[in-house]
Amino acid sequence: MKIAIIGAGFGGMAAAYDLRNAGHEVIIYESANYVGGLASGFKEPHWDWSVEKFYHHWFQSDSSMLGLIEELGFKDKVIFPRPYTVLLHNGKWYPFDSILKALLFPGLGFGLNKIRFGFVGLYLRLTNDWKSLEQYTADEWMRKYAGSEVYEKMWKPLLVGKFGPFYKDVNMAWMWARLKARTTRLGTFEGGFQKFADLFAEKLRDMGVEIRLGTQVKFIKRNQARPEQSQREKGLLIDAGGIIDSFDKALVTTSPNLMAKFAPDLPENYLKGLLELKSMGAVVMVLSLKHQLSKEGYYWFNLPKDAGYPMLALVEHTNFVSKEHFGGDHIVYAGDYLEVGHEYFSMSDEQLLERFMSALKRFNPEFSRDWVKKIWVNKTNYAQPVPLVNHSKNIPAIQTPIEGLYFASMSQVYPWDRGTNFAVEIGRRAARLMM
Ligand SMILES: Cc1cc2nc3c(=O)[nH]c(=O)nc-3n(C[C@H](O)[C@H](O)[C@H](O)COP(=O)(O)OP(=O)(O)OC[C@H]3O[C@@H](n4cnc5c(N)ncnc54)[C@H](O)[C@@H]3O)c2cc1C
Repeated sequence: MKIAIIGAGFGGMAAAYDLRNAGHEVIIYESANYVGGLASGFKEPHWDWSVEKFYHHWFQSDSSMLGLIEELGFKDKVIFPRPYTVLLHNGKWYPFDSILKALLFPGLGFGLNKIRFGFVGLYLRLTNDWKSLEQYTADEWMRKYAGSEVYEKMWKPLLVGKFGPFYKDVNMAWMWARLKARTTRLGTFEGGFQKFADLFAEKLRDMGVEIRLGTQVKFIKRNQARPEQSQREKGLLIDAGGIIDSFDKALVTTSPNLMAKFAPDLPENYLKGLLELKSMGAVVMVLSLKHQLSKEGYYWFNLPKDAGYPMLALVEHTNFVSKEHFGGDHIVYAGDYLEVGHEYFSMSDEQLLERFMSALKRFNPEFSRDWVKKIWVNKTNYAQPVPLVNHSKNIPAIQTPIEGLYFASMSQVYPWDRGTNFAVEIGRRAARLMM
């Protein structure tokens, strides 16, 4: 078969790998001039490693991604350091990324609340019945079983931070998946995620996959085959800025909104399903600093919205991987999940820096403007799908009603929280379906 894949993120590339291995002709269309999609990175001339535009790491439970890396022969390039994630209580930071650390966290006292927190955590770790949990919102389930105090202190900030105005609507299966799959050690690729994406793309090209960078797909249509048509005019037609090519099958890996735009011929109920899916965007600033921000060497600061920080997460990348890879620069991310239309999407980089500046002093009182060497601001409309109650019933099928047209996006990753691991899983699943 001749197959088109729209998107050279990890989902699209993983699908291409399996399809090409099975002997099919594969062409990937990618609108950007680089591969890697949301997990892509950038590099300053004096850096040896790239920095992801949006903070990224793997968990030890990311078996689809780690399995693929092993198949590709890059296993020895994956490292799993042990960085520290911290949580705020009474103006102080406490490590909070293991069961022991959670039990020692003073924020819940050491009485009934701690016991409820422990039992709920244990139950969620042990159960596999996420189908029952998806019938409830995390808000109602947690209030009932963990208690309002534990919920308000521990879980609500997480939901508010990730889902903003939708926080009360997110289902409990999302929370279950989040607790289930996380590990203390966090992984990355030597050289950064972009290095891995580039090596993967190189491998695909060696196998005979064509990757058309800087090529934006505008339209996908199934042509009704008529005998007088040439081979080129039959099948699925893909229009990339006026250049039309014909394929037996195509896989789209972009957001549901884009999919609906590409293929308006999809039946109304499938289109409606695509357009009803909710998601959040993200705005993330990367700063290179002259000095280390967290003197304690913390990697990830969870910032409750009601503590008055202008961002959700502050992540000191060089407390995860060494600053030596970045010519001695200290790399810090400051970011938030936001609804598209939030003022951060239209603010200039300088305005955003002004907004974040005062907060940076709260991590290190010595911080001053002249620590900042350079900033980069990355924005995306599509960063985090929002799974509502009974989401499993609303997930668009990978095989669409248009013959030969398939769709595999972050919004169909479920009950797990989206991530590169699940992009690989769904990409490979789509490839199997296509074959
Ligand atoms: C803030 C943030 C933090 C994250 N943190 C982590 C993390 O720590 N760990 C982790 O594993 N994952 C993380 N993720 C999620 C991870 O980045 C995604 O799950 C994964 O990259 C999705 O891969 P994908 O291939 O499904 O989609 P994408 O990477 O979005 O790929 C889709 C591709 O389609 C291309 N495209 C779009 N329109 C067109 C068009 N018209 N024509 C051609 N091409 C087009 C895009 O340019 C893109 O390259 C994070 C994401 C964000 C936003």
